[in-house]
Amino acid sequence: MLVLEAGDRAGAAVSQWNYVRLFSRWSELVDPAAERMLLATGWARPDGDTYPTGQEWADLYLAPLAEVLGDRVRFGARVVGVARRGRDRVVDAGREDEPLTVHVRTSAGEERIAARAVIDASGTFGSPNPLGGDGLPAAGEGAAAAQINYRVPDLDAERSRYAGKRIAVAGSGHSALTALVVLAELAEQEPGTKVVWLLRRGAVGNVFGGGESDQLPARGALGSRARKAAEAGHIDTVTGFRTAAVERGDGGKLILESFDGHRVGDVDEIVVLTGFRPDLSWLSEVRLDLDPVLQAPAKLAPLIDPNVHSCGTVYPHGETELRHPEPGVYLVGMKSYGRAPTFLSLTGYEQARSVVAAISGDLEAAARVELVLPETGVCGGAGVFDAPQEQKNSGGCCGAPETVDVSIGLAPSAR
Ligand SMILES: Cc1cc2nc3c(=O)[nH]c(=O)nc-3n(C[C@H](O)[C@H](O)[C@H](O)COP(=O)(O)OP(=O)(O)OC[C@H]3O[C@@H](n4cnc5c(N)ncnc54)[C@H](O)[C@@H]3O)c2cc1C
Repeated sequence: MLVLEAGDRAGAAVSQWNYVRLFSRWSELVDPAAERMLLATGWARPDGDTYPTGQEWADLYLAPLAEVLGDRVRFGARVVGVARRGRDRVVDAGREDEPLTVHVRTSAGEERIAARAVIDASGTFGSPNPLGGDGLPAAGEGAAAAQINYRVPDLDAERSRYAGKRIAVAGSGHSALTALVVLAELAEQEPGTKVVWLLRRGAVGNVFGGGESDQLPARGALGSRARKAAEAGHIDTVTGFRTAAVERGDGGKLILESFDGHRVGDVDEIVVLTGFRPDLSWLSEVRLDLDPVLQAPAKLAPLIDPNVHSCGTVYPHGETELRHPEPGVYLVGMKSYGRAPTFLSLTGYEQARSVVAAISGDLEAAARVELVLPETGVCGGAGVFDAPQEQKNSGGCCGAPETVDVSIGLAPSAR
């Protein structure tokens, strides 16, 4: 077993949002098998009822776990391709007899590693969605890049970038809510700071989540705080806005234009928090069965599709749902959800357990999947919110409203 990590440390993606406090408690963030290994080394288990920041999750759990795994974890090793040895994706002949080849780029050059199986747990954090309402960059988005941030602003590091500015925030997930809370607090401290919130959906509706009905209290509390921030008057909300273009106005200001010609001007900075997508470019030579909408494994997609299935706990799933036509290749973790915004690390731990059991030949353990996820107290995902009202009310799985969303809270330093 070899873990190839592109970054220079365990939790390289998490460490990019290390100032954010997770909405999951420690008890929901430690995998049981990992815990057993760590406890054997005298690891001090964090209090299960408390909420770590990204930094604490990385420092107190991911880094010690990587240490236990020792030289089976290689840092600075970026996977740039996976293929069946000597066979591109078209060739059938001899395919079943060849190992997979993993192409790895390190500071020392390129390397090829033969593997019986490849588990792609590379996440989606490296490929945020663009601002453009059609999923492609808006006209002028590239030219305005210096004034666009695709992450929640870290005000400890970039306060002067946002203080006293007019900031457009695009998106309606929990990252966007976090940005609204952060920026509204900045507006209270720094006169002249204004936030324009751009929503694709036609009404704010239940964008603030389930509040006290959310089974993850910290996630519900974030929505309530965002609602208060919006009500406090620092945020102008523009609904039904699908960005088509970003133009440059006078004095370095930006003007955003929607597909139906609505214009929002006098903008200094844009914060784009419109979700993530999987980078499938380096999997082009293996045979994947992906859903055409979500880019998630085809059997998993119907269980997590925000267009039709945004409520109820996620149906238990494991190796069977994650299997592809290419034997031994799996996507797990955040990447397995493709573009669905509903991933929780608990899901990933269970996926990995089941997939590893199958690879090691224990099919009974692989099939024994138990996954119970907390509900949010809100019904409807991105696709549903964008639909006309009558469509929202029909079908789907929603008896009582709820959805399972990825969300974030703030570290005290960011408050
Ligand atoms: C701000 C924020 C807050 C969140 N809060 C929560 C929460 O409270 N609870 C929760 O359950 N989930 C939360 N999530 C979702 C969370 O990110 C995931 O649960 C978890 O980090 C997903 O783990 P992962 O291993 O699938 O992906 P990641 O954590 O993104 O890890 C992927 C790793 O793969 C590496 N990598 C990428 N490409 C390559 C490559 N080509 N070769 C080698 N290595 C590569 C990256 O450097 C990275 O270290 C949050 C997400 C964000 C963005």
